[in-house]
Formats: sequence, C-alpha cells, structure tokens
Amino acid sequence: MLLSEEEFKENEIFFKNKFVKSCDICHGRGSTIKEYGDYEVSTTCSCVKKAKLYTELIDYGIPKKYLVAKYNIDEIKNSSYGEDLKNYTVNFVENYQNSVNLFVLGYSNVIWKVGSFLVRHISKLQNPDFPKSRFKIGYSLFSDILKMSFDDRAATANNLLYKTDVLIIDGIGSEFGRNDNKFSQRFLENTIKKRDNDCKLTIMFTNFSMCTVKEMYDNEVCNFIDNCKIINTFKDDKTF
Ligand SMILES: [Zn+2]
Repeated sequence: MLLSEEEFKENEIFFKNKFVKSCDICHGRGSTIKEYGDYEVSTTCSCVKKAKLYTELIDYGIPKKYLVAKYNIDEIKNSSYGEDLKNYTVNFVENYQNSVNLFVLGYSNVIWKVGSFLVRHISKLQNPDFPKSRFKIGYSLFSDILKMSFDDRAATANNLLYKTDVLIIDGIGSEFGRNDNKFSQRFLENTIKKRDNDCKLTIMFTNFSMCTVKEMYDNEVCNFIDNCKIINTFKDDKTF
C-alpha cells in the first residue's frame, strides 16, 4: 500500500534474511517435511509466514523498529502501566468488538515499546468478522497522514484511514504550532468519528500530558479520548 514495488521487495528480502536464514526449525529451507504414514508432505515453515506478515506490516506503515528492535519485556511487565497494557492486548478481540479505542500517553522512548508490544500481538490475531483473515493494522504519524491526504497520496491515505481494522495514529498534538486554523482538529475529529461509525478501532499515541492534550483539542475530540481506554505511561513521573 505505502511501499513501491521495489521497496516491497527490499523489505521482503530483509525479513527473509532475518527470519528464514536463521530459522531453527527449517534451517533456512523455508519448508518442513511432515510424515503421514507412507506420505511425506512439505509445508511452509512459520518463518516464511512471519517474513510475509512483517513485510505487509511495513507496507501498512508500521515502523520497522516496532518489528525488529529488541527490548526487555520485563521492563514493561514491571511498569505501572504493564498490567493495563497486558489486559488490553490479551482481551483485544473483545475490545475490538466493543469498540474500545486506546489512547496512550508517554515519552517516545516508552511509546515505541508499547506500540511494538501491541503490533506484535494484534497482527497475529484473527479478525472474528472475517474468518481466516488477520486484523489489518496500519500506522501513521498524524502529521504524515494530514500531509498525505492533501497531495497525490490522498488515495493511499484514505486506504490507511478507512480500510484498516486497527489504525495507530502517532504524534497526536504535535501538529499544532504549524496550523492555527484548527483544520487538523477537524481532520482528527472526522477521522476518529468515521472509523468509530465503521466499527474500526483507533489507537492514538501522544507525547503530551493529558492536560496539554485537553487544552489543544475541542470538546468533540476530548470526549472521544475520555471514552478510550487510557494508558498513561507518565504515571510514575511526578511532573504529570
Ligand atoms: Zn523456518
């Protein structure tokens, strides 16, 4: 969707090199042999499926860092927001069906780990509305999708905004300062309202405190945020 044909191939190769070559199950062959009595059946190894999935995620805008960078999972588990994050992801299908959107506050160095945790979990799940297909999950910085919507990438932006089951909009609030006409506010309002009407889930990330977010946006957006599941990773920080 977002990648050119060439970029798509590059990413495919990148993930094949990363997952297939070092696979302990198929030792780089990409397939495994299973014996059924006298028959031997060759099946695609999970590493090939993972490489394919991760390439598709990149094509939907998911940052490569979310998929490949390592972090200490205990750091999340032992944090004040760890339990909330775990509960939201473990019950994700239910949250999706009940339109429980998510709003996450925190510094960038924490947000990407939360995003990675969510994406790695959600992308493996089957969408109950469409048997045998996974949740389509996309990502964009808010400022990027705003820009895309008004240049020659508008069709792509629309696909990302309205064809994804789950959309992560990162950098909420950071578009202010360049835009005094409240246009971005309307855009965000329309986006989240339309997605909500279509029973599609939106996950929003911000680096600002809740007070600052509430000062920046009008009632419509603030009401929407209030109805989200809120995960505040600033919680331990006394300044917030
Ligand atoms: Zn393998």
